[in-house]
Parts: sequence; structure tokens; C-alpha cells
Amino acid sequence: MEPTTRVLVADDSPTVRLVVRMELEAAGYDVCEAVDGAEAVEVARRARPDVVLLDVEMPVLDGYGALAQLKADPALADIPVVVLTGLDGDETVVRALAAGAHDHLRKPPGAAELLARVGAAARVGALQEQLRARVEELDRLSRTDVLTGLHNRRHVEEQLRALGAGCLRHGYSLAVLLVDVDRFKQVNDTAGHAAGDAVLQAVAAAMAGQVRAEDVLGRWGGEEFLVLLPHTGAAAAQVLAERLRATVAAVRVPTPAGDLGVTVSIGGAAAETPGDHDLLGLADAQLYAVKGGGRDAVRVVQSRG
Ligand code: GH3
Ligand code: MG
Ligand code: MG
Ligand code: MG
Repeated sequence: MEPTTRVLVADDSPTVRLVVRMELEAAGYDVCEAVDGAEAVEVARRARPDVVLLDVEMPVLDGYGALAQLKADPALADIPVVVLTGLDGDETVVRALAAGAHDHLRKPPGAAELLARVGAAARVGALQEQLRARVEELDRLSRTDVLTGLHNRRHVEEQLRALGAGCLRHGYSLAVLLVDVDRFKQVNDTAGHAAGDAVLQAVAAAMAGQVRAEDVLGRWGGEEFLVLLPHTGAAAAQVLAERLRATVAAVRVPTPAGDLGVTVSIGGAAAETPGDHDLLGLADAQLYAVKGGGRDAVRVVQSRG
């Protein structure tokens, strides 16, 4: 077993607490105690045990009440709870399991069964934690662009939907900038695909250094990037777009074919009042106009909705 596994023993009987503590400590567990249900929740919050042994009949707050509070707290809900029951039959056990308990133990528990059930609960808890971390990592990966490390299109689309809805509901402004690398096909054709990739990475890194934490910067696809700017109107978006353009224009990308310069064209649109806005379509139209006007420039307009 894990030598540092911590078990909270919540029971109003000092005898039960003492016996259980001695057996668990002899097996290498770290033990903390609570004398009633309210204290059990309090100690769980503070000590973050790996397993909770929870008596049912306790003063102040009984085991059911404590169990409900533990399960209602997202930070504590995944801790396996083993309910300590008397000889009062199956009803208690059924009710505790239905309320989210992991297992139960009849009192007084024998040492072997106590250690077996606590050990099993600790293993389940550890697996649950590994699974949670893995799901979180997979979720992060599924939203990340492999080449640039920026958010990918899936994440940006989701954020655009969420921010778009919030914008309409609360009447705050929202701007989007569509950034397209100029004559990027030439980079690939003359310096090679690897150099092209290095250019995309350099452009991404340069822009990432210019946006605020609440802004969403992602790779929209190919050599296009999208920036979502909540609480930003057309004038401020235009200022940021110009800063992004100038920052990228100053970048030199080292490649085997020599240092490469790179420029971007940016089209943007901002919604400043609630309405039915097509910010992406409008930004794309501005980008098209910038490309037609010679590239390495920005153009941001206000959407009329
Ligand atoms: P413009 O200034 O009008 O935008 O010209 P452009 O050459 O940038 O535009 P075009 O859409 O013709 O070319 C985009 C190129 O981007 C074509 C494609 O080969 C390249 N590309 C797309 N994704 C990647 C990538 O992940 N890596 C590399 N190296 N190239 C990519
Ligand atoms: Mg009791
Ligand atoms: Mg393009
Ligand atoms: Mg391009």
C-alpha cells in the first residue's frame, strides 16, 4: 500500500476511533479523526484524506448528512467513503451506498477486513484520480494545435460560440481578428515545408506575446490564425491588430535557407451592440480587402448586426 495514504476516521465513539486508528497506523496509514459529521467535513476539507471512514450515528450532523456534504463539494466528492454501520441491518447500508458511499463496514470491524476495505477504497480513489488527470490531459490535447501549441480550431470555435452568446445576452462588445500569413505558399515552395512550419511557429509565438490572458488566440487552419477579443470594440481591436502586424513584421525566422522575414494581413470585425452578427464573415471580407490592397496591413470594421 501507499505509505502516505491518509484516512479520516469519523466516529463519536472514542473507543472505535482508538482501535481503528491503532490498526490503521500499524499498517502504515496516516490517520486523522473527527468526533461528529460536521467536524468530519471540516477535517476532510483541511486534511484532504484519501479515504473517509464514516460512522452513521453521530451527534451534530450524522453520517448521511456528512456524506451529502462531502459529495456536494467537487473538491471532496471523489474521496471514497466507507460507512461504519452497527448491526442495524441492510437498510442503512443501502441508503449509504445510494447516497454515494463506496463501501461499508460493520462495527466493530476486524483488523483484516478493515485493512482490506480501506486498502481497496484507497486503490479505487487513486485510480479515479489518475483517470481524472488523464481525461483533463486529453481534453487539453484535443484543444491544442500540435505545430504551434496554440489553441486549435475546435477550441476557438467553442469559445467563439460561448463569447458570442454572452455578448448578445449581456451587451458587451466582442471583436475577432483573422490573421493570414502573406504569400506563405512561396515560403514552402522556396525554403521548404520545414521552414514553412518554423515560420508558422514564429508567427504564433510572436502573437502570443501580444494578447491578454482573457483573449483567445488560436490556429484557425493552415496559415490562418483567429484572435477573439472579449470586451473590445472596433477601435481597440484595430490598435491590437496593428500591434500584431508590426510585431510579426519585425520577426526574423532562422531556417537552413537563411533568415526569413514574414508578414501578415489582418481583417477584423467588432460587435458593439447586441444583434445578429456574422463577425467571422465580416472579418474575412476585410482580410480579402487587405490582400487586394497589397498585404502587410490591417482593416477592422464595426458590425452593424
Ligand atoms: P496570400 O498572401 O494571398 O495569403 O498567399 P498565400 O500563399 O499565403 O495563400 P495560399 O492560401 O495560396 O497558401 C497557403 C499555403 O499554406 C498553402 C499550404 O501549402 C500552406 N500550409 C497550410 N498549412 C501548412 C502547414 O501546417 N505547414 C506548412 N509548412 N505549410 C502549410
Ligand atoms: Mg456513532
Ligand atoms: Mg490563407
Ligand atoms: Mg496566406
